[in-house]
Amino acid sequence: MTIGIWILGDQLWTGQAALANRQAYSQETPVILIESHNHIRQRPYHQQKLVLIWSAMRHFAEELKTLGWSVTYEVAEDFKPILSAWIKRLGIKELQIMMPNDLPFLRLIKNLNLDCAINIIDNNHFLWTRTDFNNWAKSRKRLLLEDFYRESRKKWQILIEDNQPIGGQWNFDKQNRKPPKDGLKTAAPLWFEPDEITLQVIADVEALDIPKYGKIKPFTWAVNRRQALQVLEHFITNCLPNFGPYQDAMVTGEETLWHSLLSPYLNLGLLTPLEVIQGAEIAYKKDNLALNSIEGFIRQVLGWREYMQGIYHYLGEDYANHNWFEHQQPLPAFFWDSNQTEMNCLKQVLSQVENTGYAHHIQRLMILSNFALIFGCSPQEIENWFHSVFIDAYDWVMQTNVLGMGQFADGGILASKPYAASANYIDKMSDYCRGCLYKKNERVGDLACPFNFLYWDFLARHREKLKSQGRVNMILGHLDRMSAAELNQMRYQSNQLRAISSQEEIG
Ligand code: FAD
Ligand code: SF4
Repeated sequence: MTIGIWILGDQLWTGQAALANRQAYSQETPVILIESHNHIRQRPYHQQKLVLIWSAMRHFAEELKTLGWSVTYEVAEDFKPILSAWIKRLGIKELQIMMPNDLPFLRLIKNLNLDCAINIIDNNHFLWTRTDFNNWAKSRKRLLLEDFYRESRKKWQILIEDNQPIGGQWNFDKQNRKPPKDGLKTAAPLWFEPDEITLQVIADVEALDIPKYGKIKPFTWAVNRRQALQVLEHFITNCLPNFGPYQDAMVTGEETLWHSLLSPYLNLGLLTPLEVIQGAEIAYKKDNLALNSIEGFIRQVLGWREYMQGIYHYLGEDYANHNWFEHQQPLPAFFWDSNQTEMNCLKQVLSQVENTGYAHHIQRLMILSNFALIFGCSPQEIENWFHSVFIDAYDWVMQTNVLGMGQFADGGILASKPYAASANYIDKMSDYCRGCLYKKNERVGDLACPFNFLYWDFLARHREKLKSQGRVNMILGHLDRMSAAELNQMRYQSNQLRAISSQEEIG
């Protein structure tokens, strides 16, 4: 019986479950990879994301050929006709696919109705299997990251000695929230010149008549495992030793600081989570690096990343529809074009995303998502925007990060409080306010920072709901001491801003 394998665009690892399953029969197992144009018409993706995925797929197809697999690579409008023709031509009786990370893609596969059996193989792209995560989650009242992270540390014996956390503490987060200071010297990221394959993909994407977002050039991302491993090594040598302290800082012109830039590669399968985590742990032991930096980084990959995908599958497809605050505002047009805003923090981060498809965690959470939250944007619309514009965005990582962490749309299943903040936080953690037209200390008036009036109006509008969130009570006390006149003025200015933004949207 002929068995074929369909490799999805984010499953580019020779050890992925479907390939591993047929390793011994590689010569007689046909493999297919498909670029589908219809698939990418769903939203206006960042052009660099299209280039990254397609170039990585084309490189991976070449790698598989050199390993003896018989590979078909297709560029097509849709998946089904191409798959059907391939299955018929090769007489394939069973199609094996590694379980997709994204639930909408699983639905797509189930609706294909192909002329052969489909065998979905368990996904081995994460450390936690879905069954193990579900068992962990079922046994507790609250799905706290900290509990999950400790369990993961023990399960994989990472930074553990004699069953205890190395350094006597599980978490060094308090040491990792330093505001930026002048003259920080950060390491330059490792970028790459596009090779022949990537140049061809760039030309192909430029020629496509589809809605697109962002700049396509310069394209400098890694596109194969060899380069991704170089990025990992570069990070461990040059950035990891200082990863912790300024993890939450935002500095004009310093787009990556000490962040790893590994998410695009982890999410495509070019790197595995365990090699990233163990690489960091080995460097810690060998070079006696600062524990707060190592633990801070390992928590991101072994904790947050695994937790987010576990929760996504545990809660299922309905999670995408949550809207606890019942926010309905359309996204302001400037999210699609940074030239349309004078708010310097947003302009800096949005233009960075246009140029690269990347922003670090706090830029995503406390600038972009924070604004959308206090502005009252529809969580589904902001989720769609994040999904379109980020180089590392996929459904599994978007739902939980944007809806759960960023928008509190699930009412607190995931986050213990909404991540809402005024200019006070932004000014403390960045240098953006220095170069801004708006006044960071003013709450009302023509030049008052919009983050200020939107923030207080957000708290006032949702006071009743927020009362149930213990961690917000202190700030609600502050709200209660504000004069009615000031609150009214802030409501007026917030509504005015929303009205202007909707007109821009219509125009
Ligand atoms: P580093 O700061 O160097 O962190 C190391 C690694 O930890 C990352 O590469 C990533 O794999 C992992 N990680 C850390 N936090 C998370 C998290 N919350 N969820 C999943 N993995 C995490 N991550 C994505 O991979 N794709 C996204 O589209 C994405 N969108 C986000 C949107 C919002 C609103 C928020 C709040 C977070 C989002 N994240 C997303 C999580 C996180 O911001 C990115 O993983 C991180 O910024 C990627 O940059 P880096 O590789 O330099 O990360
Ligand atoms: Fe952003 Fe307000 Fe600071 Fe300007 S003043 S950079 S809008 S927080």
